[in-house]
Amino acid sequence: MGLIIENLLKDYNINNSQCSYPRFIQIISIDCCDCGHSFKSYETELLIEKSRKYFNIEKTEYENECYAEKWNCKKCGSEYMLLWSDFSVALERTTLKPIKINVKQIGRNVKKPIPLFKGLVGYSFPPKSEIESVNYEKFKRYILEIE
Ligand SMILES: [Zn+2]
Repeated sequence: MGLIIENLLKDYNINNSQCSYPRFIQIISIDCCDCGHSFKSYETELLIEKSRKYFNIEKTEYENECYAEKWNCKKCGSEYMLLWSDFSVALERTTLKPIKINVKQIGRNVKKPIPLFKGLVGYSFPPKSEIESVNYEKFKRYILEIE
């Protein structure tokens, strides 16, 4: 899955950037703290890790988070905030929240529930109407915007 994500980010950045693609932003910004559960999302962490090189990054502070960074897209300057907290020795979560997007949408609209393949690890989970576990093929078709 890593290679597909790397190539996808490369494609985004040929003429534009990842910031024009709502499905990318939807998955990087999944955050259990938004819905009062405690889980982390494998796909969220993977997308964040793979997109790191497309941003200028600066350490900052943010509310109750253990750790925060300001991310600016190298191409369009859109701003994001990376938030990291640990809830227990076994569970932490990372999320990348869009703060100010400077570019127009190019990618297809997001869908709900969000289809994830490797999906969630944790103690309490969002309802199936929010995030759905799917096979690899279905996840790929979503993130690559085939459907
Ligand atoms: Zn951008």
